[in-house]
Amino acid sequence: MTTPFPRELVRALPKAELHVHLEGTVDAPTLLALAERHDVTPPAVTEAGVDEWYKFDGFPMFLERYFVVRDLLQDPEDFEYIAEQYMATAHAQGTVHVEFHVSASGHILEGGKAWAPIHDGIVAGCQRAAATHGMTWGLIPDISPHLPAVDCARAFDEVFAHNLDHVLAIGMGGPADRWATDRYQDIYAKARSLGIPGVSHAGEHGGADEVRFAVEEFQAVRIQHGIGTMHDPSVVELLVDRGIPCDVCPGSNLALHAVANAEAHPLSAMLDAGITVTLSTDDPPMFQTSLLDEYERAWNWCSLDMAGMEALAQNSLDARLIKP
Ligand SMILES: [Zn+2]
Repeated sequence: MTTPFPRELVRALPKAELHVHLEGTVDAPTLLALAERHDVTPPAVTEAGVDEWYKFDGFPMFLERYFVVRDLLQDPEDFEYIAEQYMATAHAQGTVHVEFHVSASGHILEGGKAWAPIHDGIVAGCQRAAATHGMTWGLIPDISPHLPAVDCARAFDEVFAHNLDHVLAIGMGGPADRWATDRYQDIYAKARSLGIPGVSHAGEHGGADEVRFAVEEFQAVRIQHGIGTMHDPSVVELLVDRGIPCDVCPGSNLALHAVANAEAHPLSAMLDAGITVTLSTDDPPMFQTSLLDEYERAWNWCSLDMAGMEALAQNSLDARLIKP
């Protein structure tokens, strides 16, 4: 029998959240407000209806709805508002540092938006929240790999041409179908030439081969999810040897049916194997979760004690990509 989760003690631990998508922080009231502001018909007319719409039968359905939310974000003020709002939410969970993934190529290529105002809006929101709450933060513009690499490269030229002071890494989020046949690694190489490392989603719905690909081809210094790693001991070894952390989001994995149930989740096995695990929420209101809920899952699923909680919190601080 597991002892009850010491929520207040875990809240008091300084933590970093390294895997949260800014667009995925839009909660039901915010979604309805954005739809009204931009005179767009919302997918549901009540908050309860939006919360219901935030339930998914799998990754494709999630992506479809995520894009709807992404496209409701139009003005710099929208980005500023949600960034500031989530920083406050994170602060209330005991988070001292947030790294926001932003679907940069999606906004630019599919949303037809310019990067500079999006970036500047996010920065304004983060800076105000950081000053209020005493937090640090950074951005991870993501490649959307359902779009061709050549187009994403063009979008990232726009990212690279703007202020890079707050860009801690570039990332990759979406289906991995085209990784091997397209040239996304060229975008990572360009980033590295500018002193910006890469991270990548991998091994979420796919297997360990995705994780190996992200490490070898994208030179990812952190993996988002990485739960598929456990299918191949040689990839486990790769992550352990190189000290590459996995930013795991157990609630997301349940909500998107990446695992059948809590018992099937490899979190405990990842910790036992010596992989550096950090916990995050991915898209918290979409998955009805919070960072403390994720720590609670780890507490229950892995039978951890307070030392285990402290170790996970410390992992997240150690894995930050703060620029020197
Ligand atoms: Zn993610």
